[in-house]
Amino acid sequence: MHCNLTLRVAVPNDRSIIGNIHTLMGKRVLLFPVPYQGHINPMLELAAILHSRGFSITIFHTNFNPIDSTKYPSYRFVLVDDGEISSQFESTVENTVHRLIAWNNSCEQLFHDCLTNVISDKNEEPVACLIRDTHWYNLQYLANKLGVPTLVLRTGSAASLNWFMTFSQLLKKGFIPVQESQLDMPVAEIAPLRMKDLPRVGNCSREAINNLFTNDMEAIRASSGVIVNTFDAIDNKEVEKFREAIPVPVFCIGPLYKFSLMASSSLLNEDRTCLEWLETQAPGSVLYVSFGSLACMNYEEFIEIAWGLANGNQPFIWVVRPGSILGKDEVDLPDGFIEATKGDGKIVSWAPQREVLAHEAVGAFWTHNGWNSTLEAICEGVPMICRPQFSDQMGNAQYVTRVWKVGIELEGKLERGKIEKAIKQLMKDDEGAEIRQRMRSMKNEASCCIKSDGSSSINIDKLMDVISSS
Ligand code: UDP
Repeated sequence: MHCNLTLRVAVPNDRSIIGNIHTLMGKRVLLFPVPYQGHINPMLELAAILHSRGFSITIFHTNFNPIDSTKYPSYRFVLVDDGEISSQFESTVENTVHRLIAWNNSCEQLFHDCLTNVISDKNEEPVACLIRDTHWYNLQYLANKLGVPTLVLRTGSAASLNWFMTFSQLLKKGFIPVQESQLDMPVAEIAPLRMKDLPRVGNCSREAINNLFTNDMEAIRASSGVIVNTFDAIDNKEVEKFREAIPVPVFCIGPLYKFSLMASSSLLNEDRTCLEWLETQAPGSVLYVSFGSLACMNYEEFIEIAWGLANGNQPFIWVVRPGSILGKDEVDLPDGFIEATKGDGKIVSWAPQREVLAHEAVGAFWTHNGWNSTLEAICEGVPMICRPQFSDQMGNAQYVTRVWKVGIELEGKLERGKIEKAIKQLMKDDEGAEIRQRMRSMKNEASCCIKSDGSSSINIDKLMDVISSS
């Protein structure tokens, strides 16, 4: 891994220069997460690491999904009023992209004053740097203009950065939209992904997705480096590839949650009764089912999942997030479901996922393969049933099933019979035993990277040096 012990500083009204930052411990780091659960969690974990190393922390957040600042009394929070953008878009998955683009388009207007105020506040420690989410691309240019060195946090894998880059190349070559006949065609540049695994977000247009990815990549070029919530053993080759295209320093310091003891950053209330319930279950017997904070299903799919779980004949915890069943406000279970599951299932609206995955009763995880969930499953050694929906999830699922071989994919239309078969295959059959064995080794690799001489610990030290060095 390349490590450049300088941060790139842009000087107002001047060209960018490369220079050392004269920082001392006791300086302030500004952090700006994208306000979605899967982005907030890793940013707050990074904040906790920085705080434990003596940096003061200022977190910017929006009125959309604001962070509960009372949980973090040691940090300063700055609420950025994003006006209409919070309420302008309906909560659909494609609007996650449109909202991101809208925030970035209004970036200067929304953030200029609050960023300037924080930087020039003489009552606070001087600012060492800003750490922004990959998708806050226009913030990069604003920070450059204000002379604030800026690092990028990629909350997904390093591989996903290469998928984002390839997307615009394939669009230019005319491969997107993907033709029906080419869905299974391998994409040589980003093996093992096939055309159908390329990022897509609901009905969002390819132009909007490309706009986001192209801007993300360009802004990384203008940054001082990228911090990635991943670890070398699983993503190093992808880092090398990424750096061939964009030669900035990259710091793989994940899994961040393993380095930071902090209050839960859940936007929804966790139902902790499922932890008590797990105590009553046999080791390795429970299937944990959750599709993260954004993925949705229609009612027909919900019914298939319900019967698939009932017929799968394994105890389960199923997270049914409020609003995740399209067109239904309530969890409307099919008649006979409770009797069929004989009390062997628990449905919750939000779970303390990491604690659930770490519980010895949990034997498998049916996931949408958001990167945080994927990483958490790896760290806790829980094999996966993969049902990706959008963005980088299809790529993550390919890594899980075809590269690391620690899960199986549930493809095509959701049907109860297929679900039942997948549960059996992973939790009972010989194939499942091999997968579980590989998952144990992978968990071991993840534990090694967080030891004091492990790759991520070493990379955290390097990152801290970069931020604090003069
Ligand atoms: N999560 C949780 N409880 C749940 C479901 C999810 O705490 O019931 C957490 C999960 O541990 C992960 C995050 O929410 O850290 C979801 O992020 P991910 O990248 O997996 O998916 P996204 O929500 O971004 O699609």
